[in-house]
Amino acid sequence: MKIKMKLNGQEVGAAGGLDHLVLDQVKRSMQEKVAGLTCPEHMMAAVIQVNGESLSGLKVQIQACCDAMRQRVAKALA
Ligand SMILES: [Zn+2]
Repeated sequence: MKIKMKLNGQEVGAAGGLDHLVLDQVKRSMQEKVAGLTCPEHMMAAVIQVNGESLSGLKVQIQACCDAMRQRVAKALA
């Protein structure tokens, strides 16, 4: 599963300071939750996009092959 994470339009990475470090951990825990999750019907993994201007205002978008898969990912992340 691919997780793309951006803060203020910047890709989250180790060089981005404390906020990025926190986000990197969030990303890791998300990755653990959805690891190995693929759609049994379409054999596809979803892409998760997390964007926000601050740590408290993150928006999570799930791009999946179908609605069932999107719901499965959303449930795993909850
Ligand atoms: Zn599907």
